[in-house]
Amino acid sequence: MNNHNFKEQIESKILELPLMQYEWISPEELTFKEEVRQICKQECPMYGKSWSCPPAVGTVEECRLRCLNYSGAFLFTTIAEVTDIANMEETLQTRFDHEEITRSLGKIFQEEGAEVKLLSSESCAICESCAYCEGKNCRHPEYMIPCIESHGILVTELAEKYDIPFLDSMTTVQWFGLILYR
Ligand code: SF4
Repeated sequence: MNNHNFKEQIESKILELPLMQYEWISPEELTFKEEVRQICKQECPMYGKSWSCPPAVGTVEECRLRCLNYSGAFLFTTIAEVTDIANMEETLQTRFDHEEITRSLGKIFQEEGAEVKLLSSESCAICESCAYCEGKNCRHPEYMIPCIESHGILVTELAEKYDIPFLDSMTTVQWFGLILYR
């Protein structure tokens, strides 16, 4: 894969997608922290309830090794307008558009010959009740996108490094996504 042509091709194709910001980064720049996993465990109601979240995604070290198997990464954000960001139902509804954009990006990378691993914001909500809770396999493994934080990745550090501002708005939601490719 010629890296320069590859990126140019991708950039020409993503013009139609409503991305707020994107950065080409290296998987080596990702910081994996046990502390992020601890926050999932202590503060997220989805911990232990989804194939897209810990512990189903594996240990932080397993996630790190999986990510480092890719040669490049594409970090991006999208935004959505809501009437009140504190309204979790309304706010979480906007993730579906973000995930569709993430899948579209994944397809564009695949069209250019890349193998991809997609990570998105939040746990998967494709099914009303995740098969994980019933002790069954994921119903849509090819479609489901694990959460970035589920892998222990410190998103705030990336945002700081690449000047991605955290929006201080009660009516704008910002979602992060990551495409790992090789
Ligand atoms: S696709 Fe369904 S079973 Fe798979 S992670 Fe998402 S909610 Fe769970």
